[in-house]
Amino acid sequence: MAAVERVSADHPAFRTEAFIDGAFVPAASGRTFSAVNPATGHAIAEVSACDAEDVDRAVKAARRAFEDRRWAGQRPLERKRALLRFAELIRTHRDELALTETLNMGKPISDARAIDVRAAADCFAYYGECCDKVYGEVAPTTDDNLALVLREPLGIVGCVTPWNFPMIMAAWKVAPALAMGNSVVLKPAEESPLTALRLAELAAEAGIPDGVFNVVPGLGVEAGKALGLHMDVDAIAFTGSTEVGRYFLRYSAESNIKRVALELGGKTAFVVAHDVKDLGAVAEAVAGGIFFNQGEMCTAASRLLVDNRIRAELVERVAALAPRWMPGDPLDPDAPAGAVVSREHQGRILSAIQAGGESGARLVTGGTAVRTETGGAFVAPTVFDDVAPSSALAQNEIFGPVLSVIGFDGLDEAVELANGTIYGLGASVWSADLAAAHKVARRFKAGIVYVNCFDADDITTPFGGVKQSGFGRDKSLHALEKYSDLKTVWTRL
Ligand code: NAP
Ligand code: MG
Repeated sequence: MAAVERVSADHPAFRTEAFIDGAFVPAASGRTFSAVNPATGHAIAEVSACDAEDVDRAVKAARRAFEDRRWAGQRPLERKRALLRFAELIRTHRDELALTETLNMGKPISDARAIDVRAAADCFAYYGECCDKVYGEVAPTTDDNLALVLREPLGIVGCVTPWNFPMIMAAWKVAPALAMGNSVVLKPAEESPLTALRLAELAAEAGIPDGVFNVVPGLGVEAGKALGLHMDVDAIAFTGSTEVGRYFLRYSAESNIKRVALELGGKTAFVVAHDVKDLGAVAEAVAGGIFFNQGEMCTAASRLLVDNRIRAELVERVAALAPRWMPGDPLDPDAPAGAVVSREHQGRILSAIQAGGESGARLVTGGTAVRTETGGAFVAPTVFDDVAPSSALAQNEIFGPVLSVIGFDGLDEAVELANGTIYGLGASVWSADLAAAHKVARRFKAGIVYVNCFDADDITTPFGGVKQSGFGRDKSLHALEKYSDLKTVWTRL
């Protein structure tokens, strides 16, 4: 077998300044913050810390670009070509982008290449194709009227994104916003700003005009808040925690009533009925569902709800798979998992684990920091059984590799438990009885439901939640609705 080579951490120079009006510029204040590689604890770049002044500069550039119609006014075919070129450039720079993502937020290099870069490129290509395929309508009025329903861009869209899939989360918002003709100001997460800055540069290379796609790295409480409160931003597309999502609703109310779309946290229930045929396959899906991407997934299968008749066996099987998900060096192409995003986040995960133990749940495996000798932030795949449904372990999003197992007797109880959190993002049900499974699927209060599978994904399907997981949908043609408005134009004939 060929030896697997660790990918070299040597990288091309990172882009570290804000990208405003087609050029990299330092923050007006001159301040910077450190981008840290969570696998080593070392700073790898000093990044411009944008604040309200920089955000205002970016919004003004975006507004100029929007009003002179240098983007929205182009032939849709030309906008499509630019977005397709952008997608192609992302693919061409796959290795560089993947390495940057891995060094900046700790995910395994193989995932960064095969999933993050590919999905970001596919997303820009998909929405690029939409540019010249979205039509308005003619309303069915009387013969002496013509009523046109036009679909128009909103203007300036502020995108605020998290660090778990930095490129993909940015692409899910920026691509449909650009496809509809808007100008964008993107505020990437403080932990992972580097790929967004490089993407903006590649977008310019692809022919997206100056001022149309701006990136303002910085802290949430500074750059994010300034974007949320800006009087000339027409919409905010946000992905992140439920807690910060609330802020954006307040910012909107306190400023210009900008529209807000929120993709927030989750606590996905993975429901397993007693009649499943292949418990081994179910265990594989549970382990992948919670341990993939270090558990830093809004749809992570963080709650396993299992019929008490098969619970002990399934828990044993999942625990036996945990070592296969033990984090390794993110630059090792064979590493199944990498570092969690920061030491701070590692601390939050370990606190949640400790509180879980104190709440009476039974620690089956994991529960500790690992690879501590590296200076990096790693957490062992962790499984708790006997978790009380009302405990913090079962209710709160941990955003780490921590599985909570809860038993049930019958599918009615399973549905009640599944729906028994503030969240409503993902849910999964497994049963040999497909009709029963689909009945459960209908009763889940969730935006994305998996039947006898987990984490199937495609750009063509809407993605988003209900309840306190937010509202609005990313992906699919439906996402275009978030970035456009309807205008009715009457003519008396
Ligand atoms: P987060 O702390 O809510 O931050 C998200 C973004 O908001 C970051 O860019 C952050 O900037 C910014 N922000 C933080 N505080 C702010 C404030 N007071 N005002 C304005 N902006 C502010 O979330 P995260 O820790 O980055 O990401 C994890 C969360 O994202 C989880 O809850 C996860 O479920 C959620 N998520 C949801 C989906 C979905 O589609 N539903 C997908 C992926 C992730 P800083 O980084 O500078 O703090
Ligand atoms: Mg944050």
